[in-house]
Amino acid sequence: MTRHYNFCAGPAALPEAVLERAQDELLDYQGRGLSVMEMSHRSPEFVAIAERAEQDLRDLLSVPDDYRVLFLQGGATMQFAMVPYNLLGQGGTPNYLHTGIWAKKAIAEAEHLGGAHIAASSEANRLTAVPRPDDIDLSDDAAYLHYTANETIGGLAFDYVPKMASPQGGGLPIVCDMSSSILSGPIDVSDYGVIYAGAQKNIGPAGLTVVIVHEDLLGRGRSDMPGLFSYRALAEAGSMINTPPTYAWYLAGLVFQWLKEDVGGLAAMETINRRKADKLYAAIDGSDFYTNPIAPLNRSLMNIPFVLADDGLNQSFLDEAEAVGLLNLKGHRSVGGMRASLYNAVPEKAVDTLIDFMTDFERRRG
Ligand code: PMP
Repeated sequence: MTRHYNFCAGPAALPEAVLERAQDELLDYQGRGLSVMEMSHRSPEFVAIAERAEQDLRDLLSVPDDYRVLFLQGGATMQFAMVPYNLLGQGGTPNYLHTGIWAKKAIAEAEHLGGAHIAASSEANRLTAVPRPDDIDLSDDAAYLHYTANETIGGLAFDYVPKMASPQGGGLPIVCDMSSSILSGPIDVSDYGVIYAGAQKNIGPAGLTVVIVHEDLLGRGRSDMPGLFSYRALAEAGSMINTPPTYAWYLAGLVFQWLKEDVGGLAAMETINRRKADKLYAAIDGSDFYTNPIAPLNRSLMNIPFVLADDGLNQSFLDEAEAVGLLNLKGHRSVGGMRASLYNAVPEKAVDTLIDFMTDFERRRG
C-alpha cells in the first residue's frame, strides 16, 4: 500500500493515524459487534461518541459555555442560507465583506432572501488583500457582519477579526465562514456570533458541517424558515432532529482526539502550519518562475495558489508531480495555475517534497 501526498482543497487529506484507527474499529466498534455506520444515532454507544466529539471540539477551541455546537448536514453552502434565515427574524440588513468566490456565494443567498449590504469589498485590489477595518462601511440597520476567514480558492486570509460596534449600539454579531481555516490554530470564539465550517478540510470527511452559535442568537429566526434550518430547534434536539451524519461525526471525533493527543492542541498545530506555509511561500518568492499574488499580510496558511511563468507548462507540472506522488495540485479553474492546500493533516514532509519537486522542475523546465 502506498499513500501519496494529497494537496487537495477538499475533501482533503485526513491524518493517517485517524484512518488507521477507523480501520481497526470498522467492523467491530469496541467489542459491540457492529460498525459505527450501522448503529442507531440514539444508541448509548453513538450518543457517547457524539458527546465526546463535542467535548473535544469545545476543549480544542475553548468554546465558552454560552455557545452551542451543532453537527449538521448540507455543507457550508447550506449555512449561506441558514445564517440569514436564523438571524433576520427581527429585521435589519445583513452586511457582508466580499473577499472572493466563497464570500460571493454567501452574499448571493442573503440577496435571494431579501437583500444584503456589501460593507467592503476586495474587488478593487483584484482579491489580493482583505479590507482594512477603516474600509468597512456598515448599513445603519446592520443585523450582522459576515466574512470568510479564508478564501479557499484565492488563498486570501483575514489577519484580524472584523469586530464592529453595531450602528444601533451594542455589539454586532460577527458571522464567520471558517470552512478552510477552522482548527488551523487557536481562535477566540467569544469574538463571534456564529462560526460555521464544512468538515471536509480540517475537521473530517465530507457530509458534516459544524456550527458554533451564541445562545443569544437562537431566538432570532424568521418564522417562515424550514424546521430543519432552525438553530434553536437543532440545538434543543442535540443536532438530532433527524438522522445526523453519524459516521462523519465519529471520524471528526477521531480527528479532534488526534489534534488534542498526538499534535498537542491548536497552538502546536499553528506552529507547524506556519512553518509549512512559510517554507512554501519562501520557495515561491525566491524563484522567478513561480508567483503568488496575495499581499503578504493576507496570505493563507492553508491554501497556497501559485502560477508558473509559462502557462504552457501547467500540464507537465501536474503530470510530473503526480508521477512522484504529489496529488491534486491543480488550481481552481477560475484562477488557473496551481494550488497547494496544506491543511492540518498534510505532513511537513509533504511540503518539503513538494518544494524539492518545484525546484527541480524549474531547473529542468524553467
Ligand atoms: N466556504 C468555503 C470557504 C469553502 O472553501 C467551501 C468549500 N470549498 C464552501 C464554503 C462550501 O462548502 P460546502 O461544499 O461544504 O458547501
